[in-house]
Amino acid sequence: MSYTNPHSEYIDKRIQDLRIQEKWNSKIIDTTHEDFIEDFFNNVFTNFILWAFTKAYLKKHPCSECNEPSKERCHGIGEERPVLMKRALERVWPDITKPICMRDILIAFLEEHKTTKFTFKCKACHKAEPKAPRRSKTK
Ligand SMILES: [Zn+2]
Repeated sequence: MSYTNPHSEYIDKRIQDLRIQEKWNSKIIDTTHEDFIEDFFNNVFTNFILWAFTKAYLKKHPCSECNEPSKERCHGIGEERPVLMKRALERVWPDITKPICMRDILIAFLEEHKTTKFTFKCKACHKAEPKAPRRSKTK
């Protein structure tokens, strides 16, 4: 049995929001997963997480460690954004010679969160997390 993240229902709701948004129609083609991750994990996908897990939603979910108001959206060790992006890309875009819509990648990326320990924390608890090992370049 795989783990089910407690925010999975909300994630599904956000996926529905994505499907009806007039956005993310850009298509990507002939780009390695590594290049895609390198170019976008730090900007598009960071902003996307901020959009997906709104401040209003965070207000309802205090820090999972100490119960103070949460401020940070936390991907656990080994479940960082680039890792989830890679899982999503392998699942929905195995053949990079065929075009894929950004929306489909973002939806798959959000879906990947449902089996992770993704959570919300206050600034102090987030800072106290063990540091992830430096991301190694894949090329
Ligand atoms: Zn805390």
